[in-house]
Amino acid sequence: MKCKVCGKKIKGRGYTLKLISYYPYRKTDIKIENIGVDINKEIKKLINLVKKRRKKEIEEDIVKFFKAKICYDCHKNLSIESLK
Ligand SMILES: [Zn+2]
Repeated sequence: MKCKVCGKKIKGRGYTLKLISYYPYRKTDIKIENIGVDINKEIKKLINLVKKRRKKEIEEDIVKFFKAKICYDCHKNLSIESLK
């Protein structure tokens, strides 16, 4: 098994890197006053949008999830700056 970051062969079981990026949904985002007065119109627009797009595309707009095996050295040197 090779490290997904540096490509070197991983000794032992390696380390699991999980990365998730998601829209920060809050309960307060959905309020009647935020939706507007014509709720039926907004719901119809949303249904039409969903019908036109594939499920995977919609999911990727909301959340992206990555999982990879990395070696000890990459684990040790991992920081938010190393994701640039
Ligand atoms: Zn590595």
